[in-house]
Amino acid sequence: MASEESWKDKYLRELDEAEQREKQWLAERNVLERMLVRTSLASEGQTPELDNLLNRLRSDLRKQKFDIDAWKTLQDQIDKAITRLDEAEPKGPEADTQAVAPEEPTGSEHDIAEEGHRLRIARRVGQLLGLLLNQVSLEPEVESQARTLQQTLLSSNDWEVLREGLNQVAELVIEAVTRSQREFETFLKRLDERLETLRQHFSEQSDAYASRHDDTATLDREIRSELSKVSEDIQHSQDLQSLKQSVSQRLEFIGGALERFCTRDAEREEMLAQQLNAMQEKVAAMEAHSEQMQAQVRRERERAMTDLLTQLPNREAWQERLSFEYNRWQRYRHPLSVSVIDIDLFKKINDSFGHKAGDRVLQLVAREMKSRLRSTDFIARFGGEEFVLLLPETGLEAARDVVEQFREHVGKLPFHFGGKPVSITFSAGVSEFRDGDAEDTVFDRADRALYQAKDAGRNQVMVD
Ligand code: GH3
Ligand code: MG
Ligand code: MG
Repeated sequence: MASEESWKDKYLRELDEAEQREKQWLAERNVLERMLVRTSLASEGQTPELDNLLNRLRSDLRKQKFDIDAWKTLQDQIDKAITRLDEAEPKGPEADTQAVAPEEPTGSEHDIAEEGHRLRIARRVGQLLGLLLNQVSLEPEVESQARTLQQTLLSSNDWEVLREGLNQVAELVIEAVTRSQREFETFLKRLDERLETLRQHFSEQSDAYASRHDDTATLDREIRSELSKVSEDIQHSQDLQSLKQSVSQRLEFIGGALERFCTRDAEREEMLAQQLNAMQEKVAAMEAHSEQMQAQVRRERERAMTDLLTQLPNREAWQERLSFEYNRWQRYRHPLSVSVIDIDLFKKINDSFGHKAGDRVLQLVAREMKSRLRSTDFIARFGGEEFVLLLPETGLEAARDVVEQFREHVGKLPFHFGGKPVSITFSAGVSEFRDGDAEDTVFDRADRALYQAKDAGRNQVMVD
């Protein structure tokens, strides 16, 4: 019974650890995915071919479709498209798309703007990589490479070096996903070993049944043979005395065979009963564990769908709700809008007043927004200081109005830090579902509109 106990404990503990690891991978993966989506959005608008490839990348990411080989091919294609782009660049950055544009900036002005844009992207990816590295545990060697990579992204001005760095970020994502897959496979293998033990028990049982079957056949054969000998004896016997003797010998043999059979049968019964008992205990224990596990998984799922800091639904919950509303939209075609909201210069709040103050701001803003929504609307914390809204039965203009009201309200909230009033603002992008949209297209458009709002000076709502 002692080994039974340790077997159960080990089984539970391993499940527990695997769940913890899975949660951590998910968190790491989210940050990396988000980083990739942002980087790819920021890189758009160069050539239709590249846009198309980036779009595929985002769509795979959002569908949580992790086919490593397909990604490697995709990355290869993206590399080639970028190389072609670089080779075409000396002709002038917009040579083929803007043939007639007399008021466009000159080539060199454009180059400078373009370069500034690229540097900002690299810096941003560098910052995100820093955030990520604080959250994940990588192998020491990979960690130190990633730190060097982060420094490069944050400080280098050489676009060639930066471009290589951005490629390495993509490789880091692939590496992280592959690692998590490998570890999950190990977990499944362990589970498989447990089931193998049970299978062996079953196989022993069926061996026991087979051996009983064989013994029965032998007994049957022996009895038949003795009986036929008895009948021969009767036919050929000359005198009663010798007949009596031979018949009694045959009967004794039959009795012996029966006794042997019964003894073996009793032994088998005993063994089977013991095994059955052991198996019943094992199965009962597994059932109990499985019930505990199900309850735990339900609790974990609820927790995994909720953001700890703000108690709003989190990004996983968002994906689930988005799928649901998207399916309804496809069927009924009622208006459905999405808004992406990002607090302005939030880093400054952390830097000036501390992380705790930043957390408090996130909680209050989340609470205020949530309390102003209709019950059919949905708000989630997408990550960091970003929130997403899903507004069913709401067209673009109405959605803009809702978010605009939020913006005004949040801007007037009386925040005080160190006795001084501080106003918190956000920028937002809004978009609505249109014919031909895939599930995530609208989010991308709203995200792009958000970027325009930031570029246009923040504290405003842009419609795509
Ligand atoms: P922008 O207007 O361009 O959005 O500027 P920003 O400073 O808001 O954007 P940036 O992405 O540079 O910085 C976001 C900051 O949000 C950085 C990070 O430290 C902070 N942040 C993310 N999550 C949390 C959190 O849970 N709590 C706190 N206190 N800060 C967070
Ligand atoms: Mg942000
Ligand atoms: Mg921000």
